[in-house]
Amino acid sequence: MSPDSLFRPVDDAFDVIPLGGTGGFGMNLTLYGHAGKWLMVDLGMGFAGDGVPGVDLLVPDPSFITERKKDLVGLVLTHAHEDHLGAVPFLWPRLRCPIYATPFTAAVLRLKLVEHNLQNEVEIHEIPLAGGFQLGPFALRYIDVTHSIPEPNLLTITTSAGTVVHTGDWKLDPGPVVGRLTDVDGLKSVGDAGVIAMIGDSTNAMTPGHSGSEADLQTSLTSLFARYDQRIVVACFSSNVARIESLARAAAANGRHVAIVGRSLWRIIEAAHETGYLKDLPDFATGRDASFLPRDKVVFVCTGSQGEPRSALARIASGNHPELSLDRGDTVIFSARPIPGNEIEISQMQGKLLKRGVQIVTAKQEFVHVSGHPARDELVEMYQWIRPQIAVTVHGEYAHQAAHAELARECQVPHTVVPANGDIVRVRDGAAPEIVGTVTTGVLAVDGKRLLPIDSSVIKGRRRAIEQGGAVVTVVLDHKGRIMAPPVVSATGLLSADQDQVALRKVVADVELELDGMTGPELRNDAEVRETTRLAVRRSVFGLTGKKPAVDVHLVRVA
Ligand SMILES: [Zn+2]
Ligand SMILES: [Zn+2]
Repeated sequence: MSPDSLFRPVDDAFDVIPLGGTGGFGMNLTLYGHAGKWLMVDLGMGFAGDGVPGVDLLVPDPSFITERKKDLVGLVLTHAHEDHLGAVPFLWPRLRCPIYATPFTAAVLRLKLVEHNLQNEVEIHEIPLAGGFQLGPFALRYIDVTHSIPEPNLLTITTSAGTVVHTGDWKLDPGPVVGRLTDVDGLKSVGDAGVIAMIGDSTNAMTPGHSGSEADLQTSLTSLFARYDQRIVVACFSSNVARIESLARAAAANGRHVAIVGRSLWRIIEAAHETGYLKDLPDFATGRDASFLPRDKVVFVCTGSQGEPRSALARIASGNHPELSLDRGDTVIFSARPIPGNEIEISQMQGKLLKRGVQIVTAKQEFVHVSGHPARDELVEMYQWIRPQIAVTVHGEYAHQAAHAELARECQVPHTVVPANGDIVRVRDGAAPEIVGTVTTGVLAVDGKRLLPIDSSVIKGRRRAIEQGGAVVTVVLDHKGRIMAPPVVSATGLLSADQDQVALRKVVADVELELDGMTGPELRNDAEVRETTRLAVRRSVFGLTGKKPAVDVHLVRVA
């Protein structure tokens, strides 16, 4: 493959490039190339694990497309989940392209942009539900599907080379509670017209059966609430507007008010009200107002289902929430799936609640959650309607993508591709797909005010400093290489300046010994002095502590 800079999408095919969203969940970003132009679908973020100290959020490295942004016709968003639009505030300044979204997604995006002071810069085009629009050589159409947020959209992308389908996140929910039903007739007619490739959601490709319906869940929650006579707290994702509606209806059926606890929930409710959702419900109370209600007359809805340390539920569990406290006999319902990687935090938080005598209900004991992604039976139905020549499996870890590809083959899809981020997947009518090259990809950490590559020396150095400690040593020489003052050493997080003076003096002595052993020319060479000093400190600290710190050498030359 020629270098990135020479790559241009061809005229008689689509070049599909996932820059994020494969090989793991989060950071969805897919490029579609055709006739020299590029279309971006979704720009999501991910959450950093413990491997990236001091960093919460991750975004995909967009450099491949920022280098050719003059050929980028726009960013089209499928829906308002963070893993699909959360990177916009961080990466849009590098792209500065118009953004296209349906009304609810646009409303959520605007609220996010306000927080980053970008609301007056970003050009957002609101597309009506089921709307069509043209961007450069790409004719686009949104098709209604169901998911776990209002206005999830499947996208059809048509050029002179044919049509591809980008499913976005979807499921087939016959009772979604909020929003429209999946447009099955629309999907069938897309399939009847012929589809080259379907780029689709692999999340639950290993889950047999059907994902279940939000309407059935509402019935279950209604009878579940009836069992309790003290406070009920439900933790769910703030973006799950249908769940908020289900909880409100289940609460009303049990003579309980709903109180909303947490800023992110209020923000999504604002976006929902703005775009016509969550109507005809009793008003939501604030946590403070509801704290004065009798314990059996209220359901608190809050965030924190993933054990997030700053969430409302984490503070309730620790007993330091300003508005809401729980006691023996109260119940906390986890109405969300634990995202892999969060298990320890969730279990620690549940432990704190249990110690207070609070009862915990999760999806393991009761029907309190339905997934927003298609299980295998739903994937089969979609393949029967769309009948693509090629299945490109994205939105999952490799195992989910591979299971999805296998299922597509069982559904008589002639070709399947399990791409990795950066693969250029060329799909063409009547031909087998090819991976014609790979482009630069990576992950950027949102680190305070900066975006840093996750494998950069800063992040690596921070990880090393956290795991092994850090040491700083100052060496003062003159230009002839004579030592003008004793070295000064500190080792924050390893050796205490107060309590480890003997050890620190030993490190200084070891450095002096090494410097004494150097020849005149060596001592006049800055690089050699630095490296010898660095190794001496490392060896000495290792001998004392068993740790190999990151060492910074400050070499001062005096006249
Ligand atoms: Zn997603
Ligand atoms: Zn989603």
